[in-house]
Amino acid sequence: MSAWMDDDLEERRRRGLYRVRRRLQSAQGSRVRLRGRELINFSSNSYLALAADPRLARAAARAARRYGCGAGASALVSGCTPPLRSLERTLAGWEGAEAALVFSSGYAANLALISSLAGRPDAVFSDALNHASLIDGCRLSRAAVHIYRHNNLDHLAALLRTQGRQARRRLIVSDSVFSMDGDLVPLAGLMDLAERFDCLLLLDEAHATGVLGEQGRGVTDLLPAGSWSWERVVKVATLSKALGAQGGFVCGSRRLITWLVNQARPYIFSTALSPLIAAAARRAVEVVRQEPERRRHVLALAERLRRELRELGGVVGDSCCQIVPLIVGDAREAVRLSRCLEEQGLLVPAIRPPSVPDGTARLRISVTAGHTEGDVMQVVEALRGRVPTLSKAALS
Ligand code: PMP
Repeated sequence: MSAWMDDDLEERRRRGLYRVRRRLQSAQGSRVRLRGRELINFSSNSYLALAADPRLARAAARAARRYGCGAGASALVSGCTPPLRSLERTLAGWEGAEAALVFSSGYAANLALISSLAGRPDAVFSDALNHASLIDGCRLSRAAVHIYRHNNLDHLAALLRTQGRQARRRLIVSDSVFSMDGDLVPLAGLMDLAERFDCLLLLDEAHATGVLGEQGRGVTDLLPAGSWSWERVVKVATLSKALGAQGGFVCGSRRLITWLVNQARPYIFSTALSPLIAAAARRAVEVVRQEPERRRHVLALAERLRRELRELGGVVGDSCCQIVPLIVGDAREAVRLSRCLEEQGLLVPAIRPPSVPDGTARLRISVTAGHTEGDVMQVVEALRGRVPTLSKAALS
């Protein structure tokens, strides 16, 4: 009956695309235990090293004692617990938005947001390298979806001109930091286009929140204060990366949040975030605000890593934050290199299609605030003499 699965999986094995889960035997941190060995971990999105921070654990334990573990219902029914309300107020205050709404994951937040903001008569303009959750949100919306070449404002402008006019509403959707490349959206240019063509701009700050900007609020922090408005921009982010907890959030105008509460199916028909996770996430926001040195440290380490890899002849693309890709090209070769690093005590995942375009498999080196310069130099030494030489095709 299900033999077709075996055939398909066999084909994936052959193409170097078969996937298995890594089963950690320790907490998530800059050192992890895997198959009985301790490895330096460059695979985590816990960019500020908060996932196993005792302060978050204590906040969660306190909330668990008082409110228990489960929310017990969707937020509209009775799952909107005091820690969740408190988290939403904290997030809105931090982001300088009128309101925030918390979802069970960043993935759910993106599905909710796009499918609530766009419908059949609308047009969505989406960057070619956007995260899967944005892509799936576009599909769920049933709007006409127009993909523009990665970070290419000219292409986006042309599509807006030719495809945007007849649409009821226009939505531009983009990651702010691209998850597999570590490069940034050209935000000022995107905002200009949003203004010119009367679009709403949805910015996914999943990999930027906590790490980028003076206040750690992401790429929007890099724009001059007062140069943009919540009427034009909707921000979505996750609590599960730099913030070290779980869940996703949207911030924007109060009107938008009220609309989502009334309209977004992934919000309405899903249990609210657990009170203990909400308490941990709230504590994480406090740490992010009080300890800017964490983000400065991680960004400086990543800069050092890029410099060293380039000196070895490596291609790291336009990365300019804590995510440093080393482009390999062939998926099997990327897996081989990842295994070779693992033998040397380094956990650096190979990222293969469909997570990245065909022919651009890579190592994704994720630097965190828990790493030291010595850790970063261990990766560099392990790659010395092994950095792949790439064909022009792979680079274009
Ligand atoms: N957006 C982006 C850009 C992401 O990389 C991810 C997670 N990989 C998500 C959204 C989904 O967030 P979560 O893991 O909280 O579901």
